Amino acid sequence: MQGCCRPFRIDRLVPLTISRGQTRCLERLLVEVRHGGITGLGETGHVDTGHHRYSSQAVAAELARLWPQLEPYAPHQWQRCEPLLAPLSPPARCGVDLALRDWWGKSLGQPLWRLWGLDRQRCGATSVTVGLGSVEAVRQRLRQWFEQVHPSRIKLKLGSPRGLDHDRQLVQATVRELDRWPGSVDVQIDANGGWDLAQAMAMAPWLHDQGVVLLEQPLPAAPDDHEGYAALRPHCPLPLVVDESCWTLQDLIRLAPHVDGVNLKLLKHGGLSRTLLMARVAEELGLQLMLGCYGDTSLLNGAAAQLLPLIRWPDLDSHLNLRHDPFLGLERIQDVIRPGTAPGLGIQLAKPLPQC
Ligand SMILES: [Mg+2]
Repeated sequence: MQGCCRPFRIDRLVPLTISRGQTRCLERLLVEVRHGGITGLGETGHVDTGHHRYSSQAVAAELARLWPQLEPYAPHQWQRCEPLLAPLSPPARCGVDLALRDWWGKSLGQPLWRLWGLDRQRCGATSVTVGLGSVEAVRQRLRQWFEQVHPSRIKLKLGSPRGLDHDRQLVQATVRELDRWPGSVDVQIDANGGWDLAQAMAMAPWLHDQGVVLLEQPLPAAPDDHEGYAALRPHCPLPLVVDESCWTLQDLIRLAPHVDGVNLKLLKHGGLSRTLLMARVAEELGLQLMLGCYGDTSLLNGAAAQLLPLIRWPDLDSHLNLRHDPFLGLERIQDVIRPGTAPGLGIQLAKPLPQC
């Protein structure tokens, strides 16, 4: 096989602010593998969750070193390719894994969800994300989402550097705004590790009283963060979900006794192959599954969407907040996202890639 990757830039429609800072534009990599007249596509790029950081340039350099080693093999020879992929960083592995899987599905003429026997009718509503900001900015973002997708689940970012009082104001403003909407809307909170244990213990029951249904990553990620979750859980009446804390199977096994769910992401775990494994192990450990994204286009979210039938809390909204998504093929009816029916990842390049 022949492989290559091309950098491209994407701009958010609305900049997203979380506890660690704000992002407006992101550099991404389109990964391609070619063999036998079929091209498999993958996407990867910069990831920074505070304690794990990978730049697009470093990921591109890893892939440039990989391509000559993969040349003797066909994309379906996973077992032979596996030792070459094993040393890669999770985002580098993600890019090539997606391209190999896309090639495989295309070579068989089937979408991946069908090859894995998954039921596409089981895809539930995705949450849409409202970042940190002023009370008025949060109200305005909620109204934009209402116009765009009529969401039934909102993920509100907390862990504001302005403190817990500001966090509480944002929750109250959100609840007041949603009371004016038709139908019921679930509110879940993602603090992105912005609280310490005492703050999380104070906030969890208060959030429950406000009608919030889920609490994600209240505590900072750390090698011993399972101790914090063990202490927090008896005081937390909401389902507790970890995101930044859980990158590997070892993290999953360490945290599983102390939380209720895990937010899976292809860039964190190294692509579809490993994320599917993580999902199945998490199910066996009794955890509920969320499936999330970073600043990803509909190519990476279209890949993640292949797993949506397994997911309790879909969280794949990043492509809906892009100024120019270069890809098409990911299906959406209001706030329900489904994987495409075309072979492989089901995603095509719709327009030329914006240059970095
Ligand atoms: Mg999160």
